[in-house]
Amino acid sequence: MTDTVEGVDLPYDEEASRQEKIEALRERLDALESQNEEMRDRLLDANAENNKYQQKLERLTHENKKLKQSPLFVATVQELTDEGVVIKQHGNNQEALTEVTDEMREDLEPDDRVAVNNSLSVVKRLENETDVRARVMQVDHSPEVNYEDIGGLDEQMTEVRETVEMPLKNPEMFDDVGIQPPSGVLLHGPPGTGKTMLAKAVANQTDATFIKMAGSELVHKFIGEGAKLVRDLFEVARENEPAVLFVDEIDAIASKRTDSKTSGDAEVQRTMMQLLSEMDGFDERGDIRIIAATNRFDMLDSAILRPGRFDRLIEVPKPDEEGRELIFQIHTRDMQTAEDVDYAELAEMATDASGADIKAICTEAGMFAIRDDRTEIRMGDFREAWEKIQDTDTDAEAGDAVAFA
Ligand code: ATP
Repeated sequence: MTDTVEGVDLPYDEEASRQEKIEALRERLDALESQNEEMRDRLLDANAENNKYQQKLERLTHENKKLKQSPLFVATVQELTDEGVVIKQHGNNQEALTEVTDEMREDLEPDDRVAVNNSLSVVKRLENETDVRARVMQVDHSPEVNYEDIGGLDEQMTEVRETVEMPLKNPEMFDDVGIQPPSGVLLHGPPGTGKTMLAKAVANQTDATFIKMAGSELVHKFIGEGAKLVRDLFEVARENEPAVLFVDEIDAIASKRTDSKTSGDAEVQRTMMQLLSEMDGFDERGDIRIIAATNRFDMLDSAILRPGRFDRLIEVPKPDEEGRELIFQIHTRDMQTAEDVDYAELAEMATDASGADIKAICTEAGMFAIRDDRTEIRMGDFREAWEKIQDTDTDAEAGDAVAFA
C-alpha cells in the first residue's frame, strides 16, 4: 500500500523539485548576469583610467625630456607653504612661489639649494654647498713647491716676488713709500710652463694658504652659481689669511664681450663683474694676493687689465735652451742617472718642450729603465722618451685635426 501511494506521489514530487532547481538556476544566472554587467562597467572604467594615465605618462615623459634639455638656474628654498615652495633665485635674488610634486616636497627643506628651469619649476635638489666648494676649490695650507723647483723663470720669479711676496711680508714698506701694492698679477703663456708652480711657490714662501680655482669650473656649473662661487672664493681666502688666490684659466670668465645675448654669456659676465668688484674692494681685504693665469691672453677683456686690477702682466714663455737644461736637472734630482747623461744635449734635443713636457720626458725615461730591469737611467732612455713624447703630441694634434675636420 505504502508502495502504491509512493508510486503515485513520485511524479508530482519530481516535477516540483525540478521546478525548484530551474528557479534556482535562473536566479543564479540573473545574479551572474548582473555581476558580469558590473564587471564590464568596471573594466570600462579601468580602461578609461588607464588611458588617462597613459596620457599623463606621455606628458610627463615629454616634460622630463624638456626639463633635461633647457638650462637650469640655481635657487634656494626659502619656505614650504601649503600653496607651494617659495624659492629665491641666485644672481637676481628674486623670490617666487612655485609648485612641486609631492615626492619632491618630501625631499625639500628650507635653505636647500635647488635647480629650477625657465618656468621656475624645481627640477632637482642640489648637493650640499660645501661639496660644490670642495669640488671646485683647491685649498692647500702648505704647498710643497720651492723657488728652487722652478727652472728658467728667474725674471718672472723676481716680478712675482716683488708684487706678491713683498706686500705680504713687508706691507709697511708700501705704506712708507706711500703707494698701493699691486693688487693682482696675471701670468700668461703656453700650457705647462710653470704658472701654477710660481703661484704655489710664492704662497709657500710667505706661509700663505694657496687657494686655487679654475675659471672654467666657475662658469660651467649651474647658471647663477659663478658669481656666488667668486664670493665664496674670497670668503674662503679671508678665512685663511694670509692667502694667495690663484684663478687659473681666467679667460673662461674674462673673455672679450661677445655680441650674443645667451644666458650662458650673461652668466659669464656676472661672474666676471663679481670678480672685478671683489678685486676693487681689495684694499680692505687685507692679506690676500691674487694671481690669475691664462693661456689665451689675446682673448682677455680689457676691463680686467685696468689699473688697480691685474696691473702686473707677466709673460711665462716656454723655456729657452738654458732653461730646459735647468728643468732637466731639477726633474732628475731624485733619479739615478748614468754618467753618460748630458743635460746640455738633452736641452738641445728637446726643442720647443715646455716644463711639463720635460717632466714627462724624465718620467718616461725612468719607465724605459724599469722595463729594462735597470735602476740607472741612461742617455738612450731620455732619447727614446723624447721620441715617444713627440709621437704622442703628434697623435694628439692629428686627433684634434680630425675632430675639427
Ligand atoms: P697650465 O697653463 O696648463 O695650467 P701651468 O703653466 O700652470 O700650466 P704648471 O702646472 O705650473 O704649468 O706645470 C706643470 C708641471 O710641469 C709642474 O708640476 C712641473 O712638474 C712642470 N714644470 C712646468 N714648468 C716648469 C719649470 N719652469 N720648472 C720646473 N718644472 C716645471
